[in-house]
Amino acid sequence: LRMEPCHLGGLVQSVLKLLEYRLKEYNAEVSFPFDPDMPKVPVDPDRIKEALINLITNACEAMNEGGRIEIREEHLEDDDLGLVAVLTVKDYGGGISEDLVHKVTTPFFTTKEDGSGLGLSIVERIAKEHKGRLIISSDPGRTTEFSLMLPKKREGD
Ligand code: ADP
Ligand code: MG
Repeated sequence: LRMEPCHLGGLVQSVLKLLEYRLKEYNAEVSFPFDPDMPKVPVDPDRIKEALINLITNACEAMNEGGRIEIREEHLEDDDLGLVAVLTVKDYGGGISEDLVHKVTTPFFTTKEDGSGLGLSIVERIAKEHKGRLIISSDPGRTTEFSLMLPKKREGD
């Protein structure tokens, strides 16, 4: 891991630029309220971008008719992790049924004809590499939210 203090919002913006073509192709409309005053967070920027690419790609694929993707950055205190930055990707692609929510991060689990089933296992690994967590919440039939929780203090600080 190449940890350095990063503006998560800047990482989100560069990923959105990178995925511009794919987002158009899927007719996906992304909202991200960019706030340049958000504090920096110690992360490996390439790994966070990789996680975002996987989450945004899944959101696109969940909404075959196009739709909204909402991305947000929050800073808060978590009971387990302490001070964290949270990056959330939400889509309106129909959600995940309750019996599947627990399986989606399992390597090779996929419901797609040509899926690898590896995207979310990679995202979860990236969360763990940062001593953080991936939280999945779904309103079945409606929305899915993936939140990457990233501790702001490094070990030993
Ligand atoms: P893949 O995209 O190759 O199927 P992933 O690990 O990225 O593999 O996702 C695993 C499974 O989780 C998907 O096949 C899908 O069933 C479910 N999933 C992931 N993201 C979403 C989402 N945003 N909305 C609904 N289901 C999702
Ligand atoms: Mg995927």
